[in-house]
Amino acid sequence: MDNDLNKLDYFLKYVQIDTQSDDTSLTSPSSAKQLNLAKEILNDIKKLGFNNAYIDEFGQVHLFIEGEKGYDTIGFNAHMDTALEVSGKDVKPNIINNYSGQDIILKNNVILSKNDFHILNDFIGDTLITTDGTTLLGADDKAGISIIMNLIRYIATNKDFKHVPISILFTCDEEIGRGADHFDNKIFKANYAYTIDGDTPYGISYENFNAASVIVKISGFNIHPGEAKGKMINSILLANEFDNLLNPDEIPAKTQDYQGFHHLNSINGEESLTTMNYIVRDFDKEKLEEKINQFVKAKEIVEEKYNKSHVDLNIKYQYKNMAEIINQNKSVLDKIIKAYNNLNIPYKFIPIRGGTDGATFSFKGCPTPNLGTGSYNHHGVLEFLNVREHNMLIEILKEVVKV
Ligand SMILES: [Zn+2]
Repeated sequence: MDNDLNKLDYFLKYVQIDTQSDDTSLTSPSSAKQLNLAKEILNDIKKLGFNNAYIDEFGQVHLFIEGEKGYDTIGFNAHMDTALEVSGKDVKPNIINNYSGQDIILKNNVILSKNDFHILNDFIGDTLITTDGTTLLGADDKAGISIIMNLIRYIATNKDFKHVPISILFTCDEEIGRGADHFDNKIFKANYAYTIDGDTPYGISYENFNAASVIVKISGFNIHPGEAKGKMINSILLANEFDNLLNPDEIPAKTQDYQGFHHLNSINGEESLTTMNYIVRDFDKEKLEEKINQFVKAKEIVEEKYNKSHVDLNIKYQYKNMAEIINQNKSVLDKIIKAYNNLNIPYKFIPIRGGTDGATFSFKGCPTPNLGTGSYNHHGVLEFLNVREHNMLIEILKEVVKV
């Protein structure tokens, strides 16, 4: 497989367009600058001869490529926005040819170290693209866009390449959890699809958390502290007691792989009222219910012990594990596994310890697992792309759509 840079032209151009989304905005797209990339992509697609591509009212880019008759339509998705944690403005991609295996110094004290990132040991001799240490790279998910654009270009320039019908959608605002808000399979028209938005090309992800949030409001009983003996019920202390009633081993810092958790992500209170915001996650529906049940039990215990206190639970279900849908539509997995096998590329199934737009696509009628991009350390200045792996994914997509 080639290790050259000639398939990186789209990537290197797109990462230089700032597309950070904005979680304070109520518009779609959340930031107008995402349209700058959408227009550039549309222009590039049209240059390849696909005049049916268009940008919709939400800033999303659509393309449908007719294919051989009688086959399922396969969809691909990547997102155009970048994360909020680090700026994506003035990205200066730095190309490292024939990586030596040493630490990569991006700038003073910003080091991509092989001790921190063992995966670098597998990349000796590869071409890597890093940042200059001041911005993110935006490979999440412009590497995904680039991989899909290379597929489109291959189809445009190889007229004898026979392939299935293909539907492509580049979305906005994935990083602020709104990437699938405007997904409509009546427009996308795919039997199944793949998001190209992960890291290792050897990972296929079709399982994500089931998710709920629980807001716990604990009321106490306040009285002047000088006269409080036997009377005051301090809701802040009750909140601590409440949290201790939840399984202490089921927190993010003590769980991995397929283990779920409850996570206290904010607490705000004074003597008479304390509010705690939790998220609850599990791959297994029943186990999620068990975890939520711990909150119900804790409420009962606290209320019984302190009869002047009151615990209010507000439980909301957020998203569901797409495995539920994908297990009923096995061809989406069969197809990708066959492509890996045909190319002699090993793969493993990696559970997504979070949500993913593909889960929403799946529940909206289009089963959509996720594939990698060959990029790592997303959302930070240490983000980088492995060009060999990026190019490997182009081959995988070609194999998936090939007839
Ligand atoms: Zn992403």
